[in-house]
Amino acid sequence: MNQKYDVIILGAGAAGLMCAIEAGKRGRRVLVLERAERIGKKILISGGGRCNFTNLHSSPENFFSANRHFVKSALARYTPADFVRLVEKHRIPYHEKKLGQLFCDRAAADITAMLEQECRDAGVEIRLNTKVSEVRKNGGRKDDLLETDQLTVQAEEASFGAPRLVVATGGLSIPKIGATSFGYDLARQFGLKIEPPRAALVPLLFSERDCKRWCDLAGVSTEVIASTRSTKQTFPENMLFTHRGLSGPAILQISSYWDGKEPIHLDLAPDRDLTADLRARGHRDPSSWKLLLREVLPRRFADRWLETYPLAGNSERVFADAERQLHAWEVKPEGTEGYGKAEVTAGGVDTGELSAKTMECRKVPGLFFIGEVVDVTGQLGGFNFQWAWASGFCAGQAM
Ligand SMILES: Cc1cc2nc3c(=O)[nH]c(=O)nc-3n(C[C@H](O)[C@H](O)[C@H](O)COP(=O)(O)OP(=O)(O)OC[C@H]3O[C@@H](n4cnc5c(N)ncnc54)[C@H](O)[C@@H]3O)c2cc1C
Repeated sequence: MNQKYDVIILGAGAAGLMCAIEAGKRGRRVLVLERAERIGKKILISGGGRCNFTNLHSSPENFFSANRHFVKSALARYTPADFVRLVEKHRIPYHEKKLGQLFCDRAAADITAMLEQECRDAGVEIRLNTKVSEVRKNGGRKDDLLETDQLTVQAEEASFGAPRLVVATGGLSIPKIGATSFGYDLARQFGLKIEPPRAALVPLLFSERDCKRWCDLAGVSTEVIASTRSTKQTFPENMLFTHRGLSGPAILQISSYWDGKEPIHLDLAPDRDLTADLRARGHRDPSSWKLLLREVLPRRFADRWLETYPLAGNSERVFADAERQLHAWEVKPEGTEGYGKAEVTAGGVDTGELSAKTMECRKVPGLFFIGEVVDVTGQLGGFNFQWAWASGFCAGQAM
């Protein structure tokens, strides 16, 4: 039997739930189909279990996409302040950690409980453990909302129909909690273009040679400024050695801009002028340099750095070269840790296929894509959730 709704949403993650709430508030009969056994699994593991649910400084510059203007409309219509109002309405305690990043004081489960409550209040029906096998569109006249022009969703034991179907199935990151390529496959089925998906906000892997040099420093971290030659973005943040390469906020951020080929640049002594410091101290010898390095870098890293890049003398030029090298460490990663460790998937449904105001497909009226499945990716720091809320809100308003 084909059960009828006004709106069917695939995926009970951040974007799908926000869309459901808004559509429900507008009096629509809303069904959310979720393949996992509970809602919002990614929300629950986000922000180290505390969910960095938005960023107060969210602006279009914090997002990347083949069309960087696409985010503007949605971000302007649903702002961090709007989400904070919702959080405060539910009396969820939160704090700003740094750089505008808002986290729950207690646990990310506060956010999923809030969304669940809002869904209940808006009369949204959520079906868990529901695997969708097929989506079909019948009819086909443009803007036709007749019963005959339905999007039909076939699940294992039932089928559901609605004039509007919202795809909020997320990206490919963290397959072990249920990430699938469903959204991309569906987009292809309807002839939509896809920007090739790739792992982003992801740790980078050293080459074999670099791993031999550095990997036993796993656990050591230091402040750096990460950049690449081809992007204007620079990220002054922490970097962490891992057993296989580099991680930490600076590396996760720059990974999203890494083209897979060029080296990444790391300033290991941000805002320091070491040769001037040496001069001021009146010393210019290898042991003063070593002491200075140990001030700037964690001791084990400083010592390894000197073993790897020993001073070739003690002339002014040698120290100047050594300092230059420290400000511009070039690392050519062998790859990334992939979707298993990536916080997000960059790429996705081409924004040219969608209305920036409603997220509806231009070619397939009634079909919407929201959240991470769309070719919009945020930087680290609560921006990806802000995109999920904003795009979900805009689609919900269009129901
Ligand atoms: C470890 C980790 C930490 C993160 N921390 C943060 C953070 O602190 N702040 C931040 O802004 N972002 C964070 N992110 C990114 C953020 O979680 C995502 O960008 C966001 O969840 C995307 O929301 P979404 O609704 O588009 O997709 P998702 O939250 O991934 O939801 C998609 C839903 O669709 C379901 N689904 C998939 N396929 C199907 C199908 N065929 N049928 C039915 N349902 C299906 C999935 O089970 C899932 O519930 C983090 C990500 C990870 C992996």
